[in-house]
Amino acid sequence: MGHYSLCPLCDSLKIGLHIQTNDFFLSAEPFSLFRCLNCGFVFTQDHPDERTIGSYYASEEYLSHNDSAKGFSSTLYKISREFMLKRKRRLVERETGLKRGKLLDTGSGTGHFLNQMKQAGWEVNGIEINKKAREYAASSFGLDVISPDKISSLSSKSFDCITLWHVLEHFEDPFRYFSEISRLLTDGGVCITALPNSNSFDAEHYNKFWAAYDVPRHIWHFSPFTFQLFAQKAGFKIRSIKSLPLDVFYISILSEKYMGTWLYFITGIITGKWFWFLSLFKKEKSSSLIYILKKKEN
Ligand SMILES: [Zn+2]
Repeated sequence: MGHYSLCPLCDSLKIGLHIQTNDFFLSAEPFSLFRCLNCGFVFTQDHPDERTIGSYYASEEYLSHNDSAKGFSSTLYKISREFMLKRKRRLVERETGLKRGKLLDTGSGTGHFLNQMKQAGWEVNGIEINKKAREYAASSFGLDVISPDKISSLSSKSFDCITLWHVLEHFEDPFRYFSEISRLLTDGGVCITALPNSNSFDAEHYNKFWAAYDVPRHIWHFSPFTFQLFAQKAGFKIRSIKSLPLDVFYISILSEKYMGTWLYFITGIITGKWFWFLSLFKKEKSSSLIYILKKKEN
């Protein structure tokens, strides 16, 4: 079990209960979110470790949005996925200044993003813990995806861009992972990390029902301030921060569902739209944020 008596980010002793919540997605088990009084970092206290976390992932659910699925929500999902894939590709091209290069996607899932990049002429590699997802990526798109324990087999300074779309919050040891990312990235390379924002309007509004707490699968609940501290400690600097526009709708719908709201889909869309509107004026309060990182010069 992952238990912390010090703040995992700043080593302060001043940590205490922040929010009592539940695994609303699968097990219904209660979990405690702790907060550091010194730096404000929020984390899931006493989370399952690598040996037991597997049972908290419904792997079938993760692959349920495959291309043969039909129905309204599946169609909506595919449309938004296509929109986001193009957006992510343009972001990579803009931030690296490259039309073609070498990209590593960690937590690559079923490989749709890697395939989008491959089609655009990029040389791509993936890392994914879920075996079924790796097999899907290989058979559907012919992608080379390895499991995380093979990360040391990748050559140093070989990637122009490394992406982590909503994965860092799942890693038991994010510092160790970022030291590998630092090793794999070229000196001028760009790391793109997308994370839920525990300081967002929707997180404040939904509190224990906020779907992006997603305990115990999410261990770390970063805000722009605490992620800045993390990046610094890991040897990176944040070049810029962008928002992810669709996440607030998805998270609001799911949070309304967890609250037991009747017509949660409609309510979630309306509430999500309001938070989306507010975040136009305060980007740092967006539901999810994308951090563009560069290695600190030695
Ligand atoms: Zn702290």
